[in-house]
Amino acid sequence: MIEQRRILRTALPGPKSAALAARRKAAVSSAVSGGNDLYVERAEGAILVDVDGNQMIDFGSGIGVASVGHSAPRVVAAVTKQATSFGHTCFMVSPYDSYVELCEQLAKHTPGDFEKRSALFNAGAEAVENAVKIARAYTGRQAVIVFDHAYHGRTNLTMAMTAKVQPYKDGFGPFAPEIYRMPMAYSYRWPTGAQNCAEEAFAGFASLAHIQVGENHIAAVVLEPIQGEGGFIVPAPGFVTMLRDWCTEHGVVLVADEVQSGFCRTGKWFAIEHEDVVPDLITTAKALGGGLPISAVTGRAEIMDAPVPGGLGGTFGGHPLSCVAALAAIETMETEDLAGRAAQIGELLTGRLTDLASQFPQIGEVRGRGAMIAIELVVPDGSKTPDAALAKAVVAGCGRRGVLMLSCGSYGNVIRMLPPLVSEFALLEDAMDVLAEAFAEAIG
Ligand SMILES: *Cc1c(COP(=O)(O)O)cnc(C)c1O
Repeated sequence: MIEQRRILRTALPGPKSAALAARRKAAVSSAVSGGNDLYVERAEGAILVDVDGNQMIDFGSGIGVASVGHSAPRVVAAVTKQATSFGHTCFMVSPYDSYVELCEQLAKHTPGDFEKRSALFNAGAEAVENAVKIARAYTGRQAVIVFDHAYHGRTNLTMAMTAKVQPYKDGFGPFAPEIYRMPMAYSYRWPTGAQNCAEEAFAGFASLAHIQVGENHIAAVVLEPIQGEGGFIVPAPGFVTMLRDWCTEHGVVLVADEVQSGFCRTGKWFAIEHEDVVPDLITTAKALGGGLPISAVTGRAEIMDAPVPGGLGGTFGGHPLSCVAALAAIETMETEDLAGRAAQIGELLTGRLTDLASQFPQIGEVRGRGAMIAIELVVPDGSKTPDAALAKAVVAGCGRRGVLMLSCGSYGNVIRMLPPLVSEFALLEDAMDVLAEAFAEAIG
């Protein structure tokens, strides 16, 4: 058992982490770079233990993956048992029951009371790519609508769908065609004010879709119900409903990319449930596997069954170890009411961050839902000029104190919080104290 407490035994990074960093430099491509220099040896719940014995509070969860906590007991037991019965057979060649059962669970927990089907893959980007393939096969159309600030992955098609060039797309073109980017209802930065945001963003979308693409050419609208890498942007109220109605009117498949926001993270099983909107297809990954790699596309049976038989798949998609891990993760979410827990975490964090914002005018906005919360940092002169340097300094200050935070956002000025949903409240309070210290230090 790892005590759920922050413990610093060395200056960070410690000597063993530093030695590993040197080996990494000589062996790992510098293009695979990250923010943190602490090498993990063990992890449990919301605590990471590094090779020097330091215990860190994890507010990143491996980018929103460890929602059920690190080394969740049900996941560990299920994977251990599966590893001793069989590893890989390939579901397309020699099928097995955990794949089928996981698709049943996906149908049960995703929004919509119609008949559903699922297909399983490995990574979030692969799920998004397949959702596009499925929507194209179903509609016989090619165009795909995505939004400003969107993040959908790093494969060729999903790079085209991702908004930000640095670092995701720089030098990697040419990109896939037939991707069209539309305004996102980002109320904090909407030029004419938050109160106009949803209507004007939707009007912009509808006009561009009509003039530049043509409704009858559009296969899918792909939307993150809360944008992740783009800055935890919650669409202005009403925007998603207007998109849903528009998609229905024009026979366009609405895809909710819930790779980051799905599986209890926002206080409901799926973030789009906060909008009272039912998508046609939903993509999931990150938290789905309880720490193992797996992704899924789930949706209306008639859409999911549209591609030709054999048209979807892949060698490793829905790997047995990942399927049993996902089933164990879902059981954990159900029995421990992790959606309810996410809502409580959200209240605690929002309260603390709102206090912090009243102290530090550099915090322009506190936003998010449930345990998917962020602060956007700006120059405090009323201009809302993004302050990425401050975000970097605060994240570094938290890191030196043993709290792992992540930044995000198109302007790099958002600090996001994705703690495991099993985090003890005392740990969250400690992390918020550390954040306040890091702020005071960074601002001086
Ligand atoms: C992380 C993410 C992806 C890509 O998932 P990978 O597993 O990294 O390929 C796609 N969409 C969203 C919303 C994400 O947050």
